[in-house]
Amino acid sequence: MFHVNLDIHTKPKGRVPECESPKPNAKLSIGMLTHLECTRCGEHYPADRPQTVCPKDAGILYARYDLPAIKRAFSSASLSGRAPTMWRYDAILPEADCVSLGEGFTPMLPSREYPNVYIKDEGLNPTGSFKARGLSACVTMARHFGLKKLAIPSAGNAAGALAAYCAASGLEAHIFMPKDVPMANRIECDYYGAHVTLVDGLISDCARKVAELKESEAWKKDGWFDVSTTKEPYRVEGKKTMGYEVAEQLGWRMPQGIIYPTGGGVGLLGMWKAFEEMEALGWIGSERPRMITVQAAGCAPIVKAWDAGRKESEMWPNAATLASGLRVPKPYGDYLILDILKKSRGTAVSATDEEIVDATRHWAKVEGIFAAPEGAASLVAYRKLRTSGFFKPEDLVVLFNTGSGLKYLDVLDGKVGTGTSPGRPAQAKPAARQIGGIIGPY
Ligand SMILES: [Zn+2]
Repeated sequence: MFHVNLDIHTKPKGRVPECESPKPNAKLSIGMLTHLECTRCGEHYPADRPQTVCPKDAGILYARYDLPAIKRAFSSASLSGRAPTMWRYDAILPEADCVSLGEGFTPMLPSREYPNVYIKDEGLNPTGSFKARGLSACVTMARHFGLKKLAIPSAGNAAGALAAYCAASGLEAHIFMPKDVPMANRIECDYYGAHVTLVDGLISDCARKVAELKESEAWKKDGWFDVSTTKEPYRVEGKKTMGYEVAEQLGWRMPQGIIYPTGGGVGLLGMWKAFEEMEALGWIGSERPRMITVQAAGCAPIVKAWDAGRKESEMWPNAATLASGLRVPKPYGDYLILDILKKSRGTAVSATDEEIVDATRHWAKVEGIFAAPEGAASLVAYRKLRTSGFFKPEDLVVLFNTGSGLKYLDVLDGKVGTGTSPGRPAQAKPAARQIGGIIGPY
């Protein structure tokens, strides 16, 4: 079902972004996506139609490619001069005209505080968070399949990203949000022209609204589709480009560690998938970074499961943290996250809200990076892992800042650190803000 277009090598190495040429990706339509594969039972499913999760066991479906054919047609050197967006890796992404706002290829900033630490700053993405990558890929495929109305239960940055990419593609975004969501997410969705339903309840009530909608006649008739985290295969494909970028931006070296704020964990799954693909392509060897999950102490189901040696997490009761993106009481992909931590000899660490706010302020003052609270949790984890000896000073470690602090102004306003930053006196404890309660798929 695929064909190789050898014109790939004749593509001018100009600065024309892949998605802005008159026929987007015309020279790169190598169509190497072969099928979808269940991550639980291994069953294959066709990739030429919309898919959700495995009908047999509800496992997450991964997109699979003809990697040997890609290896013959495209090398890491072929990336030179390509557009600085995640679509520079379109040889290993589904074949479709992309819906792009310039997402990806975010800066890999050397830390000013720790010589061997890099901060991957995802706050510079369109819509101010790493969600742009997954939703760019997801909306690209939704348009490719002729879907019209995309539904998402969300209390955060995924909603803003879906709204933006739907606006850019002419699709309808239907967002189901608790009525007390962070201000930035509510306002951006409104301006992007999304259909926002404010729900008097928690995110779980929003997810139930989408589930009820699925049972209706209109769902099928009007081309509705649920794009909840890991309930469709392509958000992982967008997020995996973070793994390609880590490798490319470090000169095809693997770091010793990657610290990743883990809510739904899509990026962690995606990066691990990217490393496996890159090894098959001959771009890297068998070395892997130790993958570190950081979660908020008020919602740490992966940390709890990891400490207990379990293969799946349990629902975290009364989840509460100001880092709203980490308020995922039971990630749908928990079985994959825990497997990756084990395979990579990684670990899972939690950070209190006090530590997170302190680290947010510290990064802003020391690095010049105003991070999302979720991102600043990476610094908390790094400090703890240095103290424990898990990481040595000479270990090259990448810390992910998942978004911009500018999207959390109402959350961070008036919040102060615990005084561990130089020159900061000890201050009052920040209260965990209830923004729409627990998050199922977010
Ligand atoms: Zn399955």
